Amino acid sequence: MQITKACPECGNVEFNINSSFENYELICNNCQNQISKISLERYVQLEANCYNCGSKSFKVKVKKLGDRELWTAVCTSCGNTPRKYCSDEDGNEITYDEREKLILKNDEEMYFQVNNPVDENYDVEEVISNLEDEIDEREEEIRLLKVEINSKEDEIRVLKNELDDRDDEIQDLNKRLVRYINNMSELQEEIDNLRKDY
Ligand SMILES: [Zn+2]
Ligand SMILES: [Zn+2]
Repeated sequence: MQITKACPECGNVEFNINSSFENYELICNNCQNQISKISLERYVQLEANCYNCGSKSFKVKVKKLGDRELWTAVCTSCGNTPRKYCSDEDGNEITYDEREKLILKNDEEMYFQVNNPVDENYDVEEVISNLEDEIDEREEEIRLLKVEINSKEDEIRVLKNELDDRDDEIQDLNKRLVRYINNMSELQEEIDNLRKDY
């Protein structure tokens, strides 16, 4: 069922169109009451003057479709519907292709926003920053451990040198001992010989 909308304040059935981005308002041209705000398709705007005759006065037909009301403005003078055109957010007329690109870009931005909510993104950055700090700390610990290992290796080297020196000394002492033992045996032999002779 289709009805002709009347102003609830004064009963007038002629309206002006207050056009804006993706929607328009219907204003009673008798009492200036705002009747309704009507949504348009995305990146679409409605001309406030009749494209055919230039009239600013429109009648409105409302059709119920389920829960929704479909509003159609019709020029009071010539019966034409007001012209719709593709527009950017500032209301500038654009081509259909430009509109498609804007919708695509807008969808990508919305997709990006949905998948990367600002707060979550911030949280992720916070986590990354904390992990980077931890890596820095670990790297410092590793550096200190390497320094300690190096100093221990130096100590081991010094001890090894000392050990080598001690080894050398022991060998020397051994040689001397062998010499003394030989000497003693020679001396003993001499003593034995002397006793024989005596
Ligand atoms: Zn009115
Ligand atoms: Zn007209």
